[in-house]
Amino acid sequence: MLTVNAIAAPSATEPLVRTTVERRDVGPKDVLIEIRYAGICHSDIHTVRGEWGQVAYPLTVGHEIVGEVTEVGSEVSKHAVGDRVGVGCMVNSCRECDNCRAGQEQYCLNGNTGTYAAVDRDGTITQGGYSTHVVVDEDFVLRVPETIPYEAAAPLLCAGITTYSPLAHWKAGPGTKVAVVGMGGLGHMAVKIAVAMGADVTVLSQTLGKKDDGLTFGAGNYYATSDPATFEALKNSFDLIINTVSAPIDMAAYLGLLRLDGTLVSVGAPPEPLAVPVFALFGNRRTFAGSSIGSIGETQEMLDFCAERGIAPQVEVIGADAVNDAYERVLKSDVRYRFVIDIETLKS
Ligand code: NAP
Ligand code: ZN
Ligand code: ZN
Repeated sequence: MLTVNAIAAPSATEPLVRTTVERRDVGPKDVLIEIRYAGICHSDIHTVRGEWGQVAYPLTVGHEIVGEVTEVGSEVSKHAVGDRVGVGCMVNSCRECDNCRAGQEQYCLNGNTGTYAAVDRDGTITQGGYSTHVVVDEDFVLRVPETIPYEAAAPLLCAGITTYSPLAHWKAGPGTKVAVVGMGGLGHMAVKIAVAMGADVTVLSQTLGKKDDGLTFGAGNYYATSDPATFEALKNSFDLIINTVSAPIDMAAYLGLLRLDGTLVSVGAPPEPLAVPVFALFGNRRTFAGSSIGSIGETQEMLDFCAERGIAPQVEVIGADAVNDAYERVLKSDVRYRFVIDIETLKS
């Protein structure tokens, strides 16, 4: 057992504090990673605050993890000491169900093992990446291409794959009109990736405050959803809408923006249900869909795609003691566009 420095939530209502967590001994198929950077996802906040249900405290979150391999188990063949690697939202799955066999382990029918707040195979609760080290089964460890700096690679492990997967599945590309709702961590990656795929991209943000950034990321259009005229102007326009908003939105209004056979995919995960009036689906034979992260194979594909196309998130690197302030800024939609913790600051 390895005791390592970490940041943890003592309860749903208290600020995160410095502490330590236990990492299991490196098993035959395990990789020990010295973490360099960990991204802050809005899911971390939903989770530690108990918004998605009860969790066991103290809890260390963080599922956008990058670092260097410092030890490998005797049977490890995919990774070696010194490799640049990443870990995303899951660290295991049953490997036997239909979905696992189909290479879609994020949809494991027995439930994938989340990087944090899940029951691990040894019965302990998994602890995430706001920490100096982590031990992970090699099959759930990704290769981080040399050309992506560590701090920029971290958000790809969740924000990157969660937007890449639906964009690829619903075939964003030349000739398709894609709207991205909410330009935070996931949203700004959705814009960059959809643009790289060749789609015509529109951002739907609460205000025009981040318009210049959106256009710099490659969006062709940028509208404020606080202006009702936006919903008139864009009626029946889009083939695909990616909703990244962490709170409930007026689904009827957004569904009305889809053209014939268009799909609105919600990746945002507000604790409250999203009300979908069926009549909003009847017009234009619209589809309302959801999507959860991506498989390990697709995550590797996404990392390689981002490396080839020179796509990287825009990050704000912070020290370990700035995490609570960063959470407040995320909650105020004041994130440009992903906070990433420099884990070096957690070592002392
Ligand atoms: P984030 O950085 O906070 O971005 C969310 C954006 O939504 C904000 O920047 C803001 O964009 C917009 N927004 C926030 N509150 C709003 C409101 N009340 N009304 C309208 N718009 C609002 O969060 P994130 O890390 O990108 O995560 C977004 C959501 O995706 C979270 O719910 C998270 O749990 C979920 N998630 C799901 C998956 C999955 O597998 N499906 C994976 C990761 C995260 P503007 O300022 O541009 O309006
Ligand atoms: Zn996440
Ligand atoms: Zn499975």
